[in-house]
Amino acid sequence: AADDLLKVRKEKLVRNLSISYKTPMKIVRGEGVHLIDDRGRAYLDCYNNVAQLGHANPEIVEVLARQAALLNTNTRYLHDNIIAYAEKLTATLPKNLTVAGFVCSGSEANDLALRLARNYTQAQGTVALDWAYHGHLSSLIEISPYKYKRKGGKGRPATTGEAMLPDAYRAPADWPKAEIAARYAASVTTAIDQLAQAGHKPAAFIAESLPSSAGQIVLPQGYLKAAYAAARKAGAVIIADEVQIGFGRVGSHMWAFDSHDAVPDIVTMGKPIGNGHPMAAMVTTREIADAFFNGMEYFNTFGGNPVSCAVGLKVLEILERDRLLANATRLGQSLIARMSKLMDRHDRIGDVRGQGLMLGIELVEDRMTKVPATDYAGRIVEKCRQLGVLLGTDGPHDNVIKMRPGMIFTDTNADFLMQVLETAFAEVA
Ligand code: PMP
Repeated sequence: AADDLLKVRKEKLVRNLSISYKTPMKIVRGEGVHLIDDRGRAYLDCYNNVAQLGHANPEIVEVLARQAALLNTNTRYLHDNIIAYAEKLTATLPKNLTVAGFVCSGSEANDLALRLARNYTQAQGTVALDWAYHGHLSSLIEISPYKYKRKGGKGRPATTGEAMLPDAYRAPADWPKAEIAARYAASVTTAIDQLAQAGHKPAAFIAESLPSSAGQIVLPQGYLKAAYAAARKAGAVIIADEVQIGFGRVGSHMWAFDSHDAVPDIVTMGKPIGNGHPMAAMVTTREIADAFFNGMEYFNTFGGNPVSCAVGLKVLEILERDRLLANATRLGQSLIARMSKLMDRHDRIGDVRGQGLMLGIELVEDRMTKVPATDYAGRIVEKCRQLGVLLGTDGPHDNVIKMRPGMIFTDTNADFLMQVLETAFAEVA
């Protein structure tokens, strides 16, 4: 049945529509941390960072159904839910970030953030980190090296400056350890110079506070503050893309930039905030929001509708009530310690890293040369899938095993993940 579906999918949908795994899976149901396929087999989902409170979470389903039965319409009317949600959501952010804009996807949130930054600064340029991904809209492909540098991409546009990916594991060998953060931050200024040469000023510096598609890169302490300062000095607005890494996943803080003691001017979020319901948001300062208010009306049909906001409120409530950030911190630390032990037996594990429940294992052919072990990473992930655990690979060379288990992950789930990883590393050549 899966094969037939794949055939029709290729005919009826765009051919490059992404799909996970060489043998695509037909998933028919989700329940908590598990996804269940058409044969009734349950897989421990350690990859899908949308349903972070669990697939088909009954409390959220109930709220969603109740609000859908009562009212769902556009945002051109007064409604309690959007106001309550804006208040609750902005309360989780630094004090200066008080104004929310609700949209339906992470890409839309980033596009809106860019629009605001450009209005506010009256500049057009953007500085992004190398290998960053910020979304699928045209405006975002242009600031996503992950897309424009790869197969099918059109290369870096003149309005984009590229700062180095602050990857401590792959820092140039001649850099003193204590200077890694500052040297990477200095490349933000180099990127601004790159823009200037093309006649552009930077409207925005956009970065994830733990670059994810770029390979689960934990930022060196001090980097983010220095990078923000360099960008601000050139007049740029700071956009923290928290679509993937935000909303408690790092465990120690609700937002990943908080763990670096740095405060952006615009924060974008999506994926987990609706636990699977398509919703996203952009939050900024009064001043930047007011610069956007230039006489032209802003309207978004679905963004901030009563159902989305009801879901968003419930998701926030559960995250706090069940102390899931503390759970992410505790399990994340224990998983990193246990995965690091695997390095003693498997010398193709080059690095184990992460923050909270955002984890990565970088695989290399040789620890000295750090040549990416891309095929090996793919084989490990496939073996784990056969053994009942869903993972993925990412990074510039697709050699980083990426793990983003749900925030409701338990010790039993962590034990199973470790058991499967151990077997996969022992058995895959
Ligand atoms: N920003 C980041 C960091 C992302 O990882 C993604 C999605 N992978 C997006 C933006 C775009 O979000 P969406 O797919 O919901 O448009």
